[in-house]
Amino acid sequence: MDLYSGIPFWLAKNSLNNYFNPLESDHSTYVAIIGAGITGALAAHELCSAGIKCTVIDKRSITTGSSVASTALLQYEIDTPLCKLVDMVDEDSAVRAYRECLQSITDIENVFRKVRFNPDFERVSSVYYASDEEGFDLIQEEYKIRKKYNLPVEFLGEKELDKKYGIKAPGALENHESAQIDSYKAATHLFDYHMKKSNLEVFTHTKISEWKPEKEGYTLTTENGHKINCKYVVIAAGFEAGTFLPKKVMDLTSTYAIVSDPVEEKYLWKDHSLIWETKEPYIYIRTADKNRIIVGGEDEDFNDAVKRDGLLREKTATLEKKFHKLFPDIPFKTDMAWCGTFSTTKDGLPFIGTWPGKDRMFFALGYGGNGITFSMIAAQIIRNKLTGIEDDRETVFGFERKSKN
Ligand SMILES: Cc1cc2nc3c(=O)[nH]c(=O)nc-3n(C[C@H](O)[C@H](O)[C@H](O)COP(=O)(O)OP(=O)(O)OC[C@H]3O[C@@H](n4cnc5c(N)ncnc54)[C@H](O)[C@@H]3O)c2cc1C
Repeated sequence: MDLYSGIPFWLAKNSLNNYFNPLESDHSTYVAIIGAGITGALAAHELCSAGIKCTVIDKRSITTGSSVASTALLQYEIDTPLCKLVDMVDEDSAVRAYRECLQSITDIENVFRKVRFNPDFERVSSVYYASDEEGFDLIQEEYKIRKKYNLPVEFLGEKELDKKYGIKAPGALENHESAQIDSYKAATHLFDYHMKKSNLEVFTHTKISEWKPEKEGYTLTTENGHKINCKYVVIAAGFEAGTFLPKKVMDLTSTYAIVSDPVEEKYLWKDHSLIWETKEPYIYIRTADKNRIIVGGEDEDFNDAVKRDGLLREKTATLEKKFHKLFPDIPFKTDMAWCGTFSTTKDGLPFIGTWPGKDRMFFALGYGGNGITFSMIAAQIIRNKLTGIEDDRETVFGFERKSKN
């Protein structure tokens, strides 16, 4: 599967991490992590920090799947507004999912404090504006339920929103608990760090094509016929994880992003906040490195890479037009554009944990627009399971979570 095409900004900004280490013989480890994206990196970090021996295997270069294409906004709000999520799963689980995402932003910050490295993690506020009157009704309802559960949120009316951010819309929800990051820089650093400090082994350009449960673990077989024996497997294979699952659990879609040339500071909006809207599919905006602006969205309900790439020019023009409509005075000139595969679940929640009956295979599938916060939660749940610490979050994010439909 082509996970992205075009030039993701992060690859140009950081340059490729050129680690090349295909597996060329049989191998044994305690935990085999399939996938060297941000999920595999956070899982490896948690496991290495707990003293657990693990090996990461990826069929590509390090972190050149979805994580290099990600626009990497970190928000506690998931794709499904809380007021809608409570109709899909029970209210306690819905609120818990929001609280866990809120906590995970701080947890991500702490991971990088611990390794003394800043992958351009930056705390920013977030503005979720009503695209129209229907969106205004939605944010009013959303405000009520978030207030009820003490989730951080403020309401901005039309005038206040215009005065504070220069956005002309019926209203918005604002919070000061969001962040942004460079997920390519973040993941590649964690791999480098633990290869040096924790004897983490990483095999790139090594595709796992078969997996067989054994009495006490798994035997994985690579495309070239080498065997990896392990006690546990972590599937951090992103949007390609479907092959490891007995049943389809997500839908693949296409998404688009553009980044501008650097813009003079005087043109930018207050606090460089994250901005997104209520309309589906939504557009979202963040800033990056030296006052560039990233605009993303314009999702399409298909995952045909040729069709997706064919729309890149048209989608770039649409994203530019929508940005100009929102901020007519900001001189936005596209520097790079890219498109990628994206995945959604019915309730907007990820799938984390074991498939029933497969106790030694952990799935860390951070699907949806908040994939990175889910990756953090998945890494912690897996670490807890392997170190015998009780963790009941699988009831919220697991395959057997209760749904109302
Ligand atoms: C354009 C775009 C914008 C996004 N914006 C945001 C955002 O703002 N905020 C947010 O939180 N999330 C966002 N996401 C989602 C987020 O990027 C993903 O959730 C996250 O990157 C997934 O990380 P991962 O490590 O699970 O997957 P990946 O980065 O795709 O890594 C999985 C790895 O598994 C490897 N692999 C797969 N199968 C095999 C196999 N059989 N053998 C060996 N290796 C294998 C792949 O090569 C790949 O490198 C966005 C995604 C896109 C595409």
